[in-house]
Amino acid sequence: MEPVNIMNVDSDRFKEFIDSFDHVFSDCDGVIWSRGPLPGSGAFFDLMRKLGKTIHFVSNNSMRTKEEYEQQFQSVNIENGYENLTVPSVAIAEYLKSVNFNKAVYCITCPETISVLRSHGFTCKDGPDIVGDNHTVFLRYAEDDDEIGAVVFDSDFKINMPKMYKAITYLKRPDVIYLSGATDRLVPLKPGLVTLGTGVFTDLVSEYSKRDPIQLGKPGRAFGEFAMKRANVTDPSRVLFIGDMIEQDIGLGKAVGFKTLLVLTNNTKETLLSHSIRPDFYADTLGSLVPLLKKFV
Ligand SMILES: [Mg+2]
Repeated sequence: MEPVNIMNVDSDRFKEFIDSFDHVFSDCDGVIWSRGPLPGSGAFFDLMRKLGKTIHFVSNNSMRTKEEYEQQFQSVNIENGYENLTVPSVAIAEYLKSVNFNKAVYCITCPETISVLRSHGFTCKDGPDIVGDNHTVFLRYAEDDDEIGAVVFDSDFKINMPKMYKAITYLKRPDVIYLSGATDRLVPLKPGLVTLGTGVFTDLVSEYSKRDPIQLGKPGRAFGEFAMKRANVTDPSRVLFIGDMIEQDIGLGKAVGFKTLLVLTNNTKETLLSHSIRPDFYADTLGSLVPLLKKFV
């Protein structure tokens, strides 16, 4: 189906759109804020709430602390944002709990993910961040460590060869659990600048070790189902998922069965229309939908 530009439909069609879901799940970076707050995003969620929708947030970004997220939500006047947020670090901790995991976790992640795992009682190992540059030293990184029972990948700005050697070594044991959070291969850092994301490195380790991680970040289906569980939602078809990234956000929506809305903050209409993954709806920004929503409140 051709994606619908929801800013350009008549009143009846817009009402039909609003009535087609009960829950709004939204990505954060690039949707609610970018380098600063995106105008109208707070008002958008406020209006959705007034229309009787429940509001939840689903981000691949485990790097911010609770306090930092709270500040971000406050900057756009969203109340209880953090309480209703699902990020990979929490999904990873909950997954490990669900399988009664009791060994050590090897983390190729941001410090915040390690701190979330530790706060849930898990033993974490990580590093090295600084490495030697000869083969004798590198051999050490290819030694197994029996204490490790899981390898976890999430955003790690200090990723390097030794960490990947270690991950590959541990993953040779089939009973070692392999989990990934953020999967983004590319990250839009600022207009005109796209950089490599953690997915590039996870994919290398997966390819070499012939293992597939359980994806506890977008677009992994298990992550979407985890977010639904946290939000007490049982019917994915009554969820509108909003995001700015086609692979992660719209891909997640397709995997779980959500309705999807792409905001064009990081993609053009042309990119969207030429992509094999297509949202149900698109709009310039959340703010651009505020005047339309006001007519129904
Ligand atoms: Mg985003």
